[in-house]
Amino acid sequence: MRQLTFIEPGKLEWWDVPAPKIAAGTDAIVRPLAVARCDLDYSTIIGSGLQGGPFAFGHETAGEVVEVGDLVTSVKVGDKVIVPFQISCGTCDNCRQGWTNSCKSVTRGAVYGMKPICGEEFGGALSEFMHVPFADHMLVPLPENVRPEVLAGGSDNIADAWRTVAPYMDRYEYASVLVIGSGRGVSIYAVQVALARGASRVLYAEIGKGSEAMRLAQEMGAETQLVPSPADLKSLGSFNITVDSSGDLEAMKLAVRSTGANGTCTSISVFFDNAVPFPMMSMYTKGISFHTSRVQGRALLPQIVEDVKCGHFHPEKVTSREVAFSDAAEAMDDPAPKIVFTNDWV
Ligand SMILES: [Zn+2]
Ligand SMILES: [Zn+2]
Repeated sequence: MRQLTFIEPGKLEWWDVPAPKIAAGTDAIVRPLAVARCDLDYSTIIGSGLQGGPFAFGHETAGEVVEVGDLVTSVKVGDKVIVPFQISCGTCDNCRQGWTNSCKSVTRGAVYGMKPICGEEFGGALSEFMHVPFADHMLVPLPENVRPEVLAGGSDNIADAWRTVAPYMDRYEYASVLVIGSGRGVSIYAVQVALARGASRVLYAEIGKGSEAMRLAQEMGAETQLVPSPADLKSLGSFNITVDSSGDLEAMKLAVRSTGANGTCTSISVFFDNAVPFPMMSMYTKGISFHTSRVQGRALLPQIVEDVKCGHFHPEKVTSREVAFSDAAEAMDDPAPKIVFTNDWV
């Protein structure tokens, strides 16, 4: 089968590899129908993300079940499903508590399309077929009225944004929300969730020179502000909920400093450094809760699906372009906030 393979920054190749097979009764084989480009895929192709090719590429997927093992009961051939990007079993201690980012039954950090994270190749989404273990737990049905393109990223960038805002809105009487981003899709999902949940004020601040993402945030109804250099700014004001999705250490500290008394700050940036200085005194005095972790993709997915199904959340508004699978290699470095690839082979 065809598999998009990451070789090195700027270089993707279509490889011909053996198609996956059912290995256990609990497995399923899924044909990806839509694959969203994760913000990390973009970073990787431009040279500021993962390294260590070759590995199968793409991991935000919705598709169609084409084969199931004889123990699978919750899905059948022909069902449209969302495939969580992290692999989890659903039955170990951690999965039962909703910590599907730390499943004990699989290699630590097991994910599709990002072999360097876990050291094991589980295949990628920009392929003709994907192997899905623990299918009864892993696969989440796609609602009938929702296109696969809308929820392909449901367990990853969309859930990653949702969890920075949605769980905390009820803590505050008139919640104000600050999102610091760098022009990628995940920031705009967070803006959208805040607006949809009735935030009294939403400010999207962007590090850099302005982007398509900034225009989208404005269009959705957020205030916007350009931050040429976060180190120069003391504060962006005071907010109940702050989100750092910038990938910039100074911007992360700016998000913390802009968090008001008893506020909640979440950083979904990935800093490859364990020696990050933190404004601890300010956090202690104001009583700030700070969150950082890999997203609980599978555990959050049903809530995301529900929000989309009932029309509270429109991830498709963040998608700038839909591109055929066949053109995925050429389009991967498009600076647009979000791209979704659609299967043109079926
Ligand atoms: Zn991702
Ligand atoms: Zn597990």
